[in-house]
Amino acid sequence: MIVAEKISEVKAQVREWKKAGYSIGLVPTMGYLHEGHASLIKRARQENDKVIVSDFVNPIQFGPNEDLATYPRDFDADCKLCESIGADLIFHPEPVEMYGDAFFSYVGVNTLSEGLCGKSRPIHFNGVCTVVTKLFNIAEADRAYFGQKDAQQLAIVRRMAKDLNYNIEIVGCPIIREEDGLAKSSRNTYLNAEERKAAVILHKALTKGEEMVKAGEKDAKKVVAAITEIIESEPLSKIDYVELVDYEKLQPVETIDGPILTAVAVYIGKTRLIDNFIAE
Ligand code: AMP
Repeated sequence: MIVAEKISEVKAQVREWKKAGYSIGLVPTMGYLHEGHASLIKRARQENDKVIVSDFVNPIQFGPNEDLATYPRDFDADCKLCESIGADLIFHPEPVEMYGDAFFSYVGVNTLSEGLCGKSRPIHFNGVCTVVTKLFNIAEADRAYFGQKDAQQLAIVRRMAKDLNYNIEIVGCPIIREEDGLAKSSRNTYLNAEERKAAVILHKALTKGEEMVKAGEKDAKKVVAAITEIIESEPLSKIDYVELVDYEKLQPVETIDGPILTAVAVYIGKTRLIDNFIAE
């Protein structure tokens, strides 16, 4: 597996692969890889000749009071995992390699970025879209893999690729969970033992919501109320949002009809966790 820190190294390798006619799959990550990331890399491995994993804690998607400095990192472990599942190249740039001494250009997707996580993280998705655009341009991939765990991010990247005519297929992959249902996340490492137990409340509440929708409930307010009640029963939790939105423009819905994203963001202690389900 090639370990590249420079954009020029990745571009040179991509040029060779393209010349040889290989297809390329890209998996953008912020590192501290777990089985959720691994599922994306394995899928990319199955569907492409060459697989590039980017491993970069992207500073411009963190707000001033967020966890950029403390975000967990373990590049050696990430390399081992990537190599063991057959990635061909891991791209691990320093922030200065990506953004230089000065950086003035941003990519954003209006409307879809404004609700859900965008409300409490106003610059987040512009940071994501900008780094993803850069990675698309560097890797020239045929396919890029994103988890439904970050459902808003996936919808925004899909929209960006469509609106801006990217020649790249965006592949959405299912949420990988711990045995008790907690969605795997690099941020789960922030939870102490008591908080870790409490964190299962997100999955419990969403499971109830999903059952209601599957049973034919059409009133979004009732689903929000049921999910909210379950989450609030956990004393360590504090809700950021519980929302049902259409899974295209991510606008709140009153009536459940068509593809609906039900998404929650909840603080467990100081750790903000997200989870969701999609009803087609
Ligand atoms: P991150 O490193 O958190 O930026 O995540 C990188 C990619 O992995 C994103 O597309 C995430 O949606 C995806 N991902 C993270 N956690 C999971 C999970 N539990 N299941 C599936 N995909 C995930």
